[in-house]
Amino acid sequence: MGVMDTPSTHAGHGPGATPHVVIVGGGFAGLWATRGLAGAPVRITLVDRGNHHLFQPLLYQVATAGLSAPDIAAPLRHILRGQRNVEVRMAGVEDIDTQARALRLDDGTTLGYDTLLLATGATHAYFGHDDWAAHAPGLKTLDDALRLRRRLLCAFERAEAEADPQRRAAWLSFAIVGGGPTGVELAGTLAEIARHTLRSEFRNIDPASARVRLVEAGPRVLAAFPPDLSAKAQAQLERLGVEVLTGTAVSSIDAEGFRLGERFVPARTVVWAAGVAASPLARALDVPLDRAGRVRVAPDLSVPGHPEIFVAGDLAAVEQGGRPVPGVAPAAKQMGRHVAQAIRARLQGREAPPFRYRDLGNLATIGRQAAVVDFGRLRFSGVIAWWFWLWAHVFFLIGFRNRLVVLLNWTWAYWTYQRGARIILGEDDDDRPPPAPGPAPS
Ligand SMILES: Cc1cc2nc3c(=O)[nH]c(=O)nc-3n(C[C@H](O)[C@H](O)[C@H](O)COP(=O)(O)OP(=O)(O)OC[C@H]3O[C@@H](n4cnc5c(N)ncnc54)[C@H](O)[C@@H]3O)c2cc1C
Repeated sequence: MGVMDTPSTHAGHGPGATPHVVIVGGGFAGLWATRGLAGAPVRITLVDRGNHHLFQPLLYQVATAGLSAPDIAAPLRHILRGQRNVEVRMAGVEDIDTQARALRLDDGTTLGYDTLLLATGATHAYFGHDDWAAHAPGLKTLDDALRLRRRLLCAFERAEAEADPQRRAAWLSFAIVGGGPTGVELAGTLAEIARHTLRSEFRNIDPASARVRLVEAGPRVLAAFPPDLSAKAQAQLERLGVEVLTGTAVSSIDAEGFRLGERFVPARTVVWAAGVAASPLARALDVPLDRAGRVRVAPDLSVPGHPEIFVAGDLAAVEQGGRPVPGVAPAAKQMGRHVAQAIRARLQGREAPPFRYRDLGNLATIGRQAAVVDFGRLRFSGVIAWWFWLWAHVFFLIGFRNRLVVLLNWTWAYWTYQRGARIILGEDDDDRPPPAPGPAPS
């Protein structure tokens, strides 16, 4: 039976029929669940609106021209080519009918299930200011990264062509909103590009004069890390030339810049790395959600009242020991694996065990030879942390080709300060209008 099933014919109802497991989302949770069901007596359909699995922790490298898109992603079909019980379907899921046990897809078809895993992750949240999205794009998908790369590289090109010193300075003013790992990585790398990569390539501007500001509303960057590592991260950022502004929230963003309280800061390029919200598909389940829109799941990761539906990864609100399980890749993989075990247990007539999160530690990179690592009692920063971060990320990338290409690219970048993916592609859809005469950059 193909994937064009209708609700009435979809599932493996009836004695002897092979149960149909539908997994929505080929990210860390969905893919690890799919792999965990290899060889199980089920028929799996993995649905994702993209055709690839993406290694999000290295997205900022694509946005800052260090790596190319295919280096950090791989086609789901290719990854799963050897797993006979899986069919991959490229489609967006628009709605869920939990009564009929069927999904409505964006190509107009319906897909039924016996068991459903929802693992559609998270998206950007602008804290009620959706109009900021046009001026401060976020980073979540490969499309976002390529758009951001074009914006960042074009800002230097526009500055080079700009005769007015005040406007030129605005093109060379960059701001990253949000001092979490993504904001820190972006700010550090951008400062490095301005100071090293672009050196002596321009004739009218000095790229090193670019100002890179990292804005964090809370009292410190990397709030998920212990305070001593946050302080070290800030010091390493400042050494790279990043201005770290903590303790004040951005109150507005437009095409000219942003406002910090009463103070206006001209910046033609603002990047949003501040808020995440759960994938809106969670609402289709019509069950209680937490403040971030995540599904409050039962201990075995199933949805209360719907034992046939599981939720995993960034979309699941899970608490352990009174603390929320963080929205990170290792947690998503562990949840995905757990759901696979739970489905296997039920097939054997056993009860699914509760999910247990194993905290493997926390890493963040800041720039060349600068990173912080937190393993609880063992904490370190600087060069050793950076090497550790680098090898961990190469190790966890999917596919031998990707590991090899990333390693080669990073070795080259390490010795030459060059970034291999600086080609500006696509239409210049940069909607940033020429700046209006205004206050000089502060
Ligand atoms: C820029 C960035 C940097 C990060 N850095 C780190 C890091 O350094 N370390 C770390 O541990 N974590 C990091 N994270 C977090 C980590 O990537 C997430 O916790 C993890 O990806 C969550 O996995 P997931 O499977 O829940 O969701 P995702 O990996 O986001 O996968 C969701 C999938 O669902 C698909 N999808 C969404 N909606 C639909 C729909 N309606 N229909 C069909 N398909 C849909 C998407 O295409 C996607 O493939 C980072 C995240 C980002 C964005």
